[in-house]
Amino acid sequence: MTVSEKIAARYFLLAKNLIYLVLYLLCRLFRRQKKVSILLYHSIGINNAKANVTPEQFEIQMEYLKNNYNVVSLDKIMKFVKEGKSLPNKSVTITFDDGYYNVYQNAYPLLKKYGLPATIFITTGYVQKQMPLNQIQLRMLGWNEIKEMSNNAVAIGTHTITHPNLEQVDLETAKEEILRSREEIQANIGKEVKYFSSPYGKDNEDIVNLVRSMGFDYAFGSLSSKRFFRREVNRLILNRTEIDSSVAFWMFKVKLTKAVDWYAKIEQNASKIVHKFPFLSKVDLLYDMV
Ligand SMILES: [Zn+2]
Repeated sequence: MTVSEKIAARYFLLAKNLIYLVLYLLCRLFRRQKKVSILLYHSIGINNAKANVTPEQFEIQMEYLKNNYNVVSLDKIMKFVKEGKSLPNKSVTITFDDGYYNVYQNAYPLLKKYGLPATIFITTGYVQKQMPLNQIQLRMLGWNEIKEMSNNAVAIGTHTITHPNLEQVDLETAKEEILRSREEIQANIGKEVKYFSSPYGKDNEDIVNLVRSMGFDYAFGSLSSKRFFRREVNRLILNRTEIDSSVAFWMFKVKLTKAVDWYAKIEQNASKIVHKFPFLSKVDLLYDMV
């Protein structure tokens, strides 16, 4: 990254934060509340990965959720979506992707301490091995820990076997990845696996149809642009709000409000404009940097 790119990225981040702040203030002003937030975490430890949150930050966030929100399981959300059952306002669900050992080591004790349910999506080919997160090798969960958590308010979902970009493999491979990982988890925990999360949040119509045909209750395309929750549309493509090392505590609070949905809409429209004008393509690069 050149110096001018670094400066541009910094201003871009500043502009992004300012937009979030304005949207947050509008939320407060008009008393608009987000019905359901589904949070996405990866690693909870001490490392330099962007997708990491330190145990200290995580505890502050969990304490805030405990005191200000209704943290519910994915099963409860599922009931809400399937049967139109009412959930309390300000419902939040906590999810983790990949299956890092530090989630057992650092997050699980805190979830127990505050009595919060969660869901972990396991990449079965990496169980008991190491997996890179932002180029940093991290130890992965073993079946003993997965089973223990599954018996203590942590639901287990599948995140494929080898963590491929499912848009880049043929449909037969995608099917094997999802089906076999689910079977392996079920055999190890002795429970039905109802949830699927797509690696890198990559999904398309074919994948959604495939997952639906396999009888999953929920599937996540974690980083797709539709970050807002609509129970009547595409219930298999629910979007999550990612929490990583770049999310300061004030931003964590903002990300639990409607501001996140409004921002996503602005982002979608902005990206349409950017793609119409090739000279704006640099903006896309800035997005990757911040
Ligand atoms: Zn992943």
